[in-house]
Amino acid sequence: VEESCFSIKELEEKITLLMAFEIKKSKCVFVKKLDIDSNDKIKGDINSLVQVLNNLISNAIEASKQGNVITLGAYKEEKKVIFYIKNFGQKIPEKIQRKIFNKMVTTKGKKGTGLGLYISKSIIKVRFNGEIGFETNDKETTFFVKIPLIEED
Ligand code: ADP
Ligand code: MG
Repeated sequence: VEESCFSIKELEEKITLLMAFEIKKSKCVFVKKLDIDSNDKIKGDINSLVQVLNNLISNAIEASKQGNVITLGAYKEEKKVIFYIKNFGQKIPEKIQRKIFNKMVTTKGKKGTGLGLYISKSIIKVRFNGEIGFETNDKETTFFVKIPLIEED
């Protein structure tokens, strides 16, 4: 049972550190669009959510070319927060789309484990009572994570 909670502000601090590290080694350009109240809170373990966002950022980097923009955004919809990671790149083929969250599905040969999305989905579902999904077209791919915010009154 998960009792801890954390604020968007705390999450943002961790994400900023993570991205500073990624910027150095990936040569992508990161844009942050956090359109959400930094005092809003999420129930669960902060590091689990950081792990998920890190998986999605890694995938975005791996799908990008040097110098491409990767956008990390967040916005509120009703009592939920939606995080998204968008990268430019080719559409995920329909055949792979269907099984992308399955265990050990990778298109990266020996370099891939195919566990990132599988683990991420399980963390978001089981630990945050949330959802994970994606949209892909010829120009860009966006992964979404939607999780409930703690309601305060
Ligand atoms: P891995 O990264 O080890 O391959 P993942 O579970 O993280 O495993 O991803 C599974 C597959 O989903 C990847 O191999 C890739 O084909 C596809 N994928 C994930 N994210 C993206 C993305 N942003 N753009 C294109 N394809 C993606
Ligand atoms: Mg991955």
